[in-house]
Amino acid sequence: QAAIEQEGVRLVAILCTHKHCGHMLPDPAPQPTARWPSRPLRASPLRPRSPLLDKEVVSVGQLRFKALFTPGHTVGHMVYVLDGKPCGGPACLFSGDLLFLSGCGELGPSALSGDSGPPAPSLHSATCLGFPLLLSPRHEYAQECLMFASLLEPENPVLEQKLQWVTQQRLEKRSTCPSTIREEKEYNPFLRTHCRELHRALGLQPLSNEDWESFRARVLKEVRHRKDVYRAN
Ligand SMILES: [Zn+2]
Repeated sequence: QAAIEQEGVRLVAILCTHKHCGHMLPDPAPQPTARWPSRPLRASPLRPRSPLLDKEVVSVGQLRFKALFTPGHTVGHMVYVLDGKPCGGPACLFSGDLLFLSGCGELGPSALSGDSGPPAPSLHSATCLGFPLLLSPRHEYAQECLMFASLLEPENPVLEQKLQWVTQQRLEKRSTCPSTIREEKEYNPFLRTHCRELHRALGLQPLSNEDWESFRARVLKEVRHRKDVYRAN
């Protein structure tokens, strides 16, 4: 609300990624004003009568967002990819709690995948779109996520450099986002399940009867588990 007032703009649409508080409208909703109409367009996986479909396009003025179904953090989680062409810029992934800078959202108790680890297809569909993509997650967790990642890959120079930059940004109380998906693939352990250094750090190797994708899913599960333990401590 403060940003809307400060920018002197009018709210016309709300794109919701999932049901957790902090991602929804405040309750009770603000009183309608000239800048905050009573019925903004709402795009949401929770839309009661006609939920958004995977790859459905939502248009807001000149902006076009493609919704992608990414279950895992919650059963109905969706992310939005803003087409950058009308603005003359790169596309941007609004990842909600699917993906953070150097991290990945926890699995909710109601997640489809149960205790099997983060679902690789959701991460894949949002990060392998084949064009340059900015990453704009919902939360500012970069420093903690990079510190965890540096325990797994202490000799990754890109990671080290990013951690130094993020530490300085946070000292100055600045945002660390957006990053880019290309950068994320250099240091985000949840996007590096193919990486031998990571396998060594986790003490994992493919079993004799295990195909490569199953092995990577197991690596992903282990990274998630270690991150949960790291956070708890
Ligand atoms: Zn959430």
